[in-house]
Amino acid sequence: MSSKLDRSNNPGQNRYIDTRGVEAASVSFTQAVINGLATGGGLYVPEELPRLSLDDITSLTQLPYRDRAAFIYRAFNIDLPDDEIDTCMARSYGANFDTESICPITSLDDGMHLLELWHGPTSAFKDMALQCLPQFFSASASSLREAGKLDHDFCILVATSGDTGKAALEGFKGVPGVSVGVLFPDGGVSDIQRKQMVTTTGDNVRVWAVEGNFDDCQTAVKRVFSDDAFAARLLADGSIALSSANSINWGRLLPQIVYYVSGYAELVATGKIAAGDPIDVCVPTGNFGNILAAWYAKQMGTPIETLFCASNENRVLTDFINTGTYDISDRAFVLTPSPSMDILVSSNLERQLFELTGRNSSSIAQWMADLSNDRKFVVDDATAAALASTFKSSSTDSPTCLSVIKSVFDEHDYLMDPHTAVAYACARKLKGSNPVLVASTAHWAKFGDNVYRALHGIAPGAPLPQDVDALTGCQLNELIADETGMHDIPKGLAGLDTAEVRFAGVIPSDVASVEEAVSVFLAQ
Ligand SMILES: *Cc1c(COP(=O)(O)O)cnc(C)c1O
Repeated sequence: MSSKLDRSNNPGQNRYIDTRGVEAASVSFTQAVINGLATGGGLYVPEELPRLSLDDITSLTQLPYRDRAAFIYRAFNIDLPDDEIDTCMARSYGANFDTESICPITSLDDGMHLLELWHGPTSAFKDMALQCLPQFFSASASSLREAGKLDHDFCILVATSGDTGKAALEGFKGVPGVSVGVLFPDGGVSDIQRKQMVTTTGDNVRVWAVEGNFDDCQTAVKRVFSDDAFAARLLADGSIALSSANSINWGRLLPQIVYYVSGYAELVATGKIAAGDPIDVCVPTGNFGNILAAWYAKQMGTPIETLFCASNENRVLTDFINTGTYDISDRAFVLTPSPSMDILVSSNLERQLFELTGRNSSSIAQWMADLSNDRKFVVDDATAAALASTFKSSSTDSPTCLSVIKSVFDEHDYLMDPHTAVAYACARKLKGSNPVLVASTAHWAKFGDNVYRALHGIAPGAPLPQDVDALTGCQLNELIADETGMHDIPKGLAGLDTAEVRFAGVIPSDVASVEEAVSVFLAQ
């Protein structure tokens, strides 16, 4: 690894503080990764941010992606040895991605540059972080174990509406000292998403379909997490503690900063912008993790001017950014063609507000209490102004999302998934004179049914023609590929119909049934 990073620019070991100010002492990176959430429900943020020079940033393109990532981790002075960081990065960003560049940029001739974050094993952007977090989780656990601060293994439990579950399974499979269990709503995910999960290989993984919807899954997992007697039993019987892998873990956020810095450097290296030119970044947003990573990249010195926050019909973030009021008291949850953005409570927003208030943990604690009591909070004028000066936001409704997929395909011969289309449509509305880097978060073949609707002018939610509806997800993707000439269906998706189903079980959503299933899994 040949990096020019001068660590004397970034003195001291980076420590992590809690957004709600409940934890008096800061924690190390490894401890923040293992803890996930701070005591009292707050989130960890770095005490200090490293600054990168324009030279640091542009020189990244001389390195393979895994070394760019290691460079950023070193800039953060995380408490793992250099060779360990290199090993983790080599495992995270190698042949598990289908392109050496890991996340290439496709530029359309309208000033939009699509940062393709879906070349990993599960074809959605969650891989960018979930190939990496397990490596850090395992390395952090080993390091704490050696220091005598840890004496047990972990079981990661994930409730998923689709993308996260498979990405967690792929990321954690084969990782020593960790097992992973995923619960998805029976009948509530697409054929492709279900097959992706139930055919996962590896000895330390388990998948359950749960009777009920995603909310039932999530509630069940939350209840399991808060059952202290169950936790004590797992620890006593198997020396295992439960943990989660959701995007509130700093170890999932940090890898996402890398691709914004790296993406900027790529635009310079390919002559699409000059070094130092400002760009805007547009992100299809759900839990606010991805766009927050772009904000951190900006704070660290990447010449990003404005962050475009793209919402679908669940436009709580758009309304918040435009008014300073976050209000879900009277907001219906809408099912859209971009399900990974169908979210009402955006958990990483807490970190963003902490940063924009000048790290005022008492404001954060108050607003989060308001949100949980009144389903609503209102930020002060200074924070609203800070928000408005950094972010612009717009939403894309479902019919527009589908029509944009069609028009971009017709005009640019590029097929995008519905999440990317939401962002692209917002970027077109918000674009000023700067080039826009648009986060492209999934391969189209993960969402073939809605891509088919888009291409055939079928309304969102309307039934597919009978013969098309009868196809498996893989067959439908083949049909779309034949019709469009887009034969780039990822290997991991193309072979799903013939992959062996390993997990066919359906369990009830009550907490006792889920705990029983987890116990049986962990006893093996
Ligand atoms: C998770 C996800 C998003 C939303 O990202 P956040 O970090 O939660 O804002 C967008 N698109 C796809 C395809 C996703 O899987």
